[in-house]
Amino acid sequence: MLSRSRTSPTRRRLLKQFTLAGLASFTPARRLFASGTPAATAPLASSPAAPAVKDRAPLTPGAFYLLPLGSVRPRGWLKGQLQIQANGLSGHLGETWPDVGPNSGWLGGTGESWERGPYYLDGLVPLAYLLDDAGLKAKAQQFVDWTLTHQAPNGMIGPASNNDWWPRIVMLKALTQYQEVTGDPRVIPLMEKYFQHQLAELPARPLRDWGKFRWQDNLLSVVWLYNRTGSAYLLDLARLLHQQGHDWLAQYADFQYTQRITRDFLKLNQGNGLRDLSLSTHGVNNGQAIKTGPVWSLVSGSQTDRTAVLKMVSELDKYHGLPNGMFSCDEHLAGLDPSQGSECCTVVEYMFSLERSLAILGDPALGDRLEKLAFNALPGTLTDDMWAHQYNQEPNQVECSLHHKPWTTDGPESNLFGLEPNFGCCTANFSQGWPKFAASLFLLSGAQDTNAQDGLAAAVYAPCEVRTVVRGTPVHVVEETDYPFRGTVSLTVNPASPLNFPLQLRIPAWAEGTTIKVNGRLAPSAAPGSFARLERTWRSGDRVEIVFPMKPRISRWFHDSIAIERGPLVFSYGIGEGWVKLRDRGMTADWQVFPATQWNYALNIDPATPEKSIAVAETEVPEAPFARRQAPVRLQAKARMVNEWRAIDGAANPLPQSPVASDEPEKTITLIPYAAAKLRITAFPQLKS
Ligand SMILES: [Zn+2]
Repeated sequence: MLSRSRTSPTRRRLLKQFTLAGLASFTPARRLFASGTPAATAPLASSPAAPAVKDRAPLTPGAFYLLPLGSVRPRGWLKGQLQIQANGLSGHLGETWPDVGPNSGWLGGTGESWERGPYYLDGLVPLAYLLDDAGLKAKAQQFVDWTLTHQAPNGMIGPASNNDWWPRIVMLKALTQYQEVTGDPRVIPLMEKYFQHQLAELPARPLRDWGKFRWQDNLLSVVWLYNRTGSAYLLDLARLLHQQGHDWLAQYADFQYTQRITRDFLKLNQGNGLRDLSLSTHGVNNGQAIKTGPVWSLVSGSQTDRTAVLKMVSELDKYHGLPNGMFSCDEHLAGLDPSQGSECCTVVEYMFSLERSLAILGDPALGDRLEKLAFNALPGTLTDDMWAHQYNQEPNQVECSLHHKPWTTDGPESNLFGLEPNFGCCTANFSQGWPKFAASLFLLSGAQDTNAQDGLAAAVYAPCEVRTVVRGTPVHVVEETDYPFRGTVSLTVNPASPLNFPLQLRIPAWAEGTTIKVNGRLAPSAAPGSFARLERTWRSGDRVEIVFPMKPRISRWFHDSIAIERGPLVFSYGIGEGWVKLRDRGMTADWQVFPATQWNYALNIDPATPEKSIAVAETEVPEAPFARRQAPVRLQAKARMVNEWRAIDGAANPLPQSPVASDEPEKTITLIPYAAAKLRITAFPQLKS
């Protein structure tokens, strides 16, 4: 626990500064600052959020604009999920893990002083503010305050023990979110001074290793600041970052890394871990890089740059794609076998890249993918109570134990559930997944230079409420739904006074036959894979009801295997699980999970009409909707065992090429949501008909 006595004086002094300074040099985004109320303790939940900040000319605007943190707040099961996270490791990490504890370099201590403090804050800030949790806000405030009050005279931020650009890139992402939700007037001057320093320093001390390969995240914060201040030097800095950063767009224009990347290929045993070849094929770097084209297109104005994200996603799918929506990376790109893993950091970074790319490009396919990651890969790699996570998850995960197979470059702890299996980056970084997803559910649409055409877009779906300003009028929208477990989404639109604006609704590519009603009357829908646009004068209490048909369908994977999907959920056979504690780890523990049942099934499904071969049973959506015990959707299908398909050294061997024959008796097996099955088969051989 971060001790009160150690931090209180600083905090009190700062709060006093807030009140005394009069905040003259900055127009706060939030009215609440006018009363001198400090951000960390103000009742934010019901106050109208600040308006969206649009891309400032000469930037080429995105299709949509992000709403500031705090505009979209979770409700229903999503709020429950964030509460589970707060009650779990995210809410207590500093109490049990020294790397973000009181001796963190980002709190002025002598401990870990690189990426882990900023990683943790990047998720803790949105978690704390979306839950309006005073205790979590206070924990976040300590990191924020130390950073804001320890800027070096030359503008550098962070612990003086290193001057690596990379951890500062992460801290800036955390500070921008904090500024949006609090309006703290110290953030923008600090960023101005830091970026002036970076612009002056980069020619002599250029981006290197992680910073060079993750420059697009640096650019995000430069653009964020430019949109708020218009300082021309920021565009020079943007161009310099682009010039010094790795050329991801060239890498994917002629994609060469189509094979499983091995230690030998990288010459890792010769100490080449930070060489360009290793960093270019590194999973988390690629996950972060997916946003490069769209974010850079704001500066370059190039439509080719903007759409480059689609090429990147399709190349990764083609050579490394997995049925949980991820690409394999354990921790380098690892091919198509569903026994390969994906790193937890890559899941949350891929999600963040999609959130930003969807806003800029406006392509609904990016929303489909974002939902697939959020509702499958993210909860699938964490325990139900969010006290433990894996480093690597596998779609076909038949055992979580100490083993070397099948990882390309990771160690034997990689798929254990625990505090910091394999390496502690994910421990610090996983917290950003759910809160940033929740904050990204709705976006603002409209022209760059006027608010007269503004509207709202439901970009991805989950229960939430939005408080924002459209065309100068406060608008409140409530989204009620059990999506992704059910197909019905209800929106109640409450403008402060009758207001004409377009409400755009993403229709997923799988949602053939979607119906939309406004106040009970059928409205024009739109083709799957597009946005439906409802433009009308909205009056308080207007109701929009969307029904997405949730027919089971199949998708094709490695060796022509099949996976079952329904809506945005992927379904898996839940192998019997024997959880064995390996060791206690402070407030949590490291676990191995051993299979307690057979798992080597092939499915008997007619691919032309999969819905006829699969029975669907829905039950009430429980408080922990991704937990196995009360999985709210279960599917049943016919299957036979395939005896030659086995596991060796903790991992399932490559699937036999489908279709397969089997003389074993036919059985009915139950499939549950991917995330509910911590041991699972997701890609199945298909039986010969
Ligand atoms: Zn990681």
